[in-house]
Amino acid sequence: MTTPRISFEFFPPKTLDASFRLWETVRMLAPLAPEFVSVTYGAGGTTRKLTHEAVTTIGAQYGLNVAAHLTCVDATRADTLEIVNAYADAGVREIVALRGDAPKGAARFTPHADGFGSSVELIEALANTGKFKIRVGAYPEPHPDAPDARADVMWLKRKFQAGADSAITQFFFEPETFLRFRDDCARQGITGKIIPGIVPIENWAGIRKFASACNTHIPAWMDEAFEKAARDGREDLLATALCTEMCDRLIAEGVEDLHFYTLNRAYLTRDVCHALGIQPQVSLENVA
Ligand code: FAD
Repeated sequence: MTTPRISFEFFPPKTLDASFRLWETVRMLAPLAPEFVSVTYGAGGTTRKLTHEAVTTIGAQYGLNVAAHLTCVDATRADTLEIVNAYADAGVREIVALRGDAPKGAARFTPHADGFGSSVELIEALANTGKFKIRVGAYPEPHPDAPDARADVMWLKRKFQAGADSAITQFFFEPETFLRFRDDCARQGITGKIIPGIVPIENWAGIRKFASACNTHIPAWMDEAFEKAARDGREDLLATALCTEMCDRLIAEGVEDLHFYTLNRAYLTRDVCHALGIQPQVSLENVA
């Protein structure tokens, strides 16, 4: 079996405690030599400064290739481009370009009067700078704003036409969900790379709640399996096995890249990577 290329998503810490957790996670996962790591942008731009700090520090301290997430919510074009220019000046070369969610309480996304109206407009502006590799979001199960699954595929095609280099999917629980989406995209002529987003399940109740909000199908057998595992205190074992099995299946189907949503927890992601044959790249210098 081929060893996949991997990447990790982190979120910027808002407290001292969360900060220790992030740095511990980065320290543990960096030796697995990810292709890139990415840092999220809080809903509505709430972590603008924290995201910038985490992105630049991870790049400087660990020499990792860092992609900064960026959304268009509640920001003028000028504001957004100011952030983009600051990243370019700091040597950041990758952006995960997103529209973002509607602010809390609002039913749907409404662009700022002077802002980018959609992810495609943001992608076009980033592509015009010629300074970034542009990654975008993709939805193997209908996004809450999409009338049907086809709309997500056609919209993803627009993102690639606008200048996206690759797409990272929302997480899903069954490999067939991704494989079907990949086939649908290929049928519509999409040739850009689509990387499956993988969530190691540290806390089933939390992930389940998030999945419901994202329209991610929750197979009934998973509830049963986690209930039984909880009784025996073996949720971690189940989560590692399920995640490894799904990644294995994707790799067997020709998937070459996996993007892990780490939720700033290292152990499950690390164990799954080890099970997939990804070993820490330790140099003699590190050992001494
Ligand atoms: P889009 O793909 O642009 O839109 C979502 C769907 O809505 C489309 O697939 C399409 O079906 C429909 N749609 C939207 N606009 C149009 C249009 N003009 N015409 C036709 N159809 C349209 N959120 C954050 O706040 N911060 C983050 O850091 C963050 N990181 C993420 C990373 C990844 C990999 C993913 C998959 C999601 C992330 N999100 C993040 C969540 C994301 O902001 C939400 O899912 C948001 O609702 C959609 O953003 P998008 O850019 O993917 O949307």
